[in-house]
Amino acid sequence: MPEADLVIVGCGPVGAMAALRARQHGLSVIALDRESEVYPWPRAVSMDDEIQRLFATAGLLDGLRSCSSPFGGAEFLDHQGHRAIGIELPVGFVGPNGHPPVVAFDQPAVERMLREAAIGAGADLRFGADVAALDGNKLTLSDGATITGRWVLGSDGARSTVRRQLGIELENQGFDEDWVVVDTTLLDPDLSLSSLVTQYCDPDRIVTYIPGHGTHRRWEFQFREGETRAEMASPERIAELLGPWGSPHQLQVDRIAVYRFHAVVAERFRVGDVFLAGDAGHQMPPFNGQGMCSGMRDVENLIWKLAAVAAGHADERLLDTYNDERRRHVAGQVEHAVDAGRLINAIAEGGADSFEAGYGGGREFPHLETGLRCGNHRLTGHPFPQPLLEDGGFDRQLGDGIALVTTASTDISADLMDRWAAIGARRVDTRPDLFPNLVGDGTVVVVRPDRYIAAVTRDLVSTSAEFAELGLAVA
Ligand SMILES: Cc1cc2nc3c(=O)[nH]c(=O)nc-3n(C[C@H](O)[C@H](O)[C@H](O)COP(=O)(O)OP(=O)(O)OC[C@H]3O[C@@H](n4cnc5c(N)ncnc54)[C@H](O)[C@@H]3O)c2cc1C
Repeated sequence: MPEADLVIVGCGPVGAMAALRARQHGLSVIALDRESEVYPWPRAVSMDDEIQRLFATAGLLDGLRSCSSPFGGAEFLDHQGHRAIGIELPVGFVGPNGHPPVVAFDQPAVERMLREAAIGAGADLRFGADVAALDGNKLTLSDGATITGRWVLGSDGARSTVRRQLGIELENQGFDEDWVVVDTTLLDPDLSLSSLVTQYCDPDRIVTYIPGHGTHRRWEFQFREGETRAEMASPERIAELLGPWGSPHQLQVDRIAVYRFHAVVAERFRVGDVFLAGDAGHQMPPFNGQGMCSGMRDVENLIWKLAAVAAGHADERLLDTYNDERRRHVAGQVEHAVDAGRLINAIAEGGADSFEAGYGGGREFPHLETGLRCGNHRLTGHPFPQPLLEDGGFDRQLGDGIALVTTASTDISADLMDRWAAIGARRVDTRPDLFPNLVGDGTVVVVRPDRYIAAVTRDLVSTSAEFAELGLAVA
């Protein structure tokens, strides 16, 4: 007998968020981690607006705000220090998700908050629990104990035991570079440093600078050909590299870590009752700050589907959409990150035309192109926008289930509404001017619990039949 609906392997940021969201959706949860404390140093430093929105949905916005601060913008400088590309974000600027486009945050503080919230919500977090083997949905720990979940989530990081046990290979999207990452504390408040994330595209040495939250300041230095890990990680070399920005009296070096930035996506995110999320399923260069954010998207995509199946609101076909939706979306994120890395290199090489297409090679930010979505409206598969109202964000009206967003004048038959209500959906009537070109004229926007638009339709009867074919119990 399964001991929990969901057993989570790995309680990093992605696993801890999964534990919290699964409890909030009513699933019983056991989460295992081989370590007893959160990893003490930040790896992720920036979080986008979609993931801030998720923290708000999870009830953690105040906590997040206490350990984060909005970014002022970003720029790419060429070897003469001239701006090739850049953007300043005005103070108080809020994007379509209803939050600042990007915030700098303190990863260990956020991870502690997530774990506490998951425990507070009733998740059973077990530390010092090292998963050694997997047989279907039965896990064996290195001390020989076994645990079985109805479903298992492998969020156990880049070297994922779960992924290896499943025999899932990583597909390489072609980027391998060594960089040394230096985390510092700003000691001298008078030291003049940029308030913008800065890519120094200097052929002599490519450098990324990130003004982190509070006094955290990060530099990332690309290796030159022939440089070794040992020499690049030496304190003397780091002091030399930091020299142009500040002295050891001004910047205290907290951590030096050499990383090989690479770009990989697992060939599958699901085998039977076992799913992958976070770094276990994908890794990308950090230039766009999307690694952890993508892992959080995995979680928010998966958990409501598990809960829907557990509640009898959908069948197994809904779970298949996880693999299709997330793999394609995150492969797009990885391509963006690789493009950004290539752009930095191209600017450094003096490719004046190389940045014409802009950050990300002019590619559209990925959206859901397959899976649980119907129709061809251009916003289908994109996050539903969140206008800010006087009493807070619009999301509060959407609730935790599917929302049918429309206007009061739209006619939905009682029978049809009953069928949607039976799977936990609610009707939300709103003002069309809040959602120009989206809501109004009898249109119903079907918004999924993960806030993605599943359909924009004037024929909810036919659309319901299509969703029934995809596994939702609305027939
Ligand atoms: C230099 C750098 C900068 C980055 N910047 C950003 C950024 O700005 N924004 C962003 O979104 N992302 C960024 N990232 C990526 C981000 O740090 C990762 O994507 C994120 O930390 C991954 O989280 P995770 O929970 O998937 O994995 P992890 O944080 O690796 O957690 C995995 C957990 O699983 C546990 N575990 C492992 N194996 C087992 C086992 N067998 N049994 C039990 N437990 C196990 C581990 O102890 C760990 O707690 C950056 C990464 C780097 C390296």
